Amino acid sequence: MSSRPTLCSVVPPHILRSIAVRGDDDDRHRALATLELSQRPRGERQALVMAVGPAVLPPLRKRRAVYDASHGTELPGAIVRGEGAPRTRDASVSEAYEGAGRTYDFYRRVYGRRSVDDRALRLDASVHYGDRFNNAHWNGRQMIYGDGDGKYFRRFTTALDVIAHELTHGVSQYTAGFAFSGQPGALSEHFSDVFGALTKQYWLRQTAARADWLIGAGLFTDRVNGDAIRSMKAPGTAYDDPILGTDPQPSHMSDYVRTPGDDRGVHVNSGIPNHVFYRVATLLGGRAWEVAGRIWYRALTRELGPRAQFRNCADATWRAAGELFGAGSEPQDAVAVAWADAGVGVLQSLLRGAGSRLPVRAPREIFEPMTAGAEVPHFDHVL
Ligand SMILES: [Zn+2]
Repeated sequence: MSSRPTLCSVVPPHILRSIAVRGDDDDRHRALATLELSQRPRGERQALVMAVGPAVLPPLRKRRAVYDASHGTELPGAIVRGEGAPRTRDASVSEAYEGAGRTYDFYRRVYGRRSVDDRALRLDASVHYGDRFNNAHWNGRQMIYGDGDGKYFRRFTTALDVIAHELTHGVSQYTAGFAFSGQPGALSEHFSDVFGALTKQYWLRQTAARADWLIGAGLFTDRVNGDAIRSMKAPGTAYDDPILGTDPQPSHMSDYVRTPGDDRGVHVNSGIPNHVFYRVATLLGGRAWEVAGRIWYRALTRELGPRAQFRNCADATWRAAGELFGAGSEPQDAVAVAWADAGVGVLQSLLRGAGSRLPVRAPREIFEPMTAGAEVPHFDHVL
């Protein structure tokens, strides 16, 4: 396995590498610096995990803290806004604070969850991280936001779905605990995109039919030929740019990308389950967080574990749909149809046992385990 574990970042390494190859000298320098800062030695991860303790204290209510890293890489930096404190004139601070609050409120109101650990963990965020840093991270303990270079990327706090994406890595860390490699890692990316999109849709009060299903819309500057970093509606179409490259995401198992890079394609193959979720949400119609979101939340928090493959996610969401809405219900059928259409499918014996006549799992199935040795303890999936 790699001895250089990566953080959960919103901008995938293939975009940064493309900028490094195709951009000018300044672009190359900054892209390589961002790639370098997106990785850190194992010792630091352990230290961060150890540090989780003190923030986990009652009372069980929303608590946020925003820090200013002042363009350095020391974390967390100086505290600039705590819970209930007045807003400052710094837009990044306001956005990080409000975005964490909206994500907390979404999970609390819709799924009854209190913060990423369901024990009211304080949501910490550092803004102005690094020099025009082109990324946002969840590092196992806190949020980190770069300002963006202003050339290709705007500041990363502007996108609520990106904030919710990163905080959902925290939810996954405390629940399924996905290993961050191969299909388990792609599922971590997938669930972060699902609840990132749903948080945004919830606050915009958008139905599944009206939502754009983009992740990170508005992050690119006008110079970039692209709408967003990913599209759940049409994976592989989010951007096509001479410097940033072309969106590589597949939406079907027949186009599954086998690559040693990007922790075995975690930001690439997540397009397959992402499109399944989009299909389920639009087949059902209405507000996606109410039915499809509830199914996926139950699968994430109760059914899936560190080694989960796409087929396990298909089975888990199908079971969750049955438990929540009944065997043979419309939501359960929609889940089975959407996974089958993506070339994954729900396990045949499960469907037969339920007397279903729906399509069964495609015979040609890709099983790609995570990188050997990448399995990590329950709440520490950031490897
Ligand atoms: Zn991510």
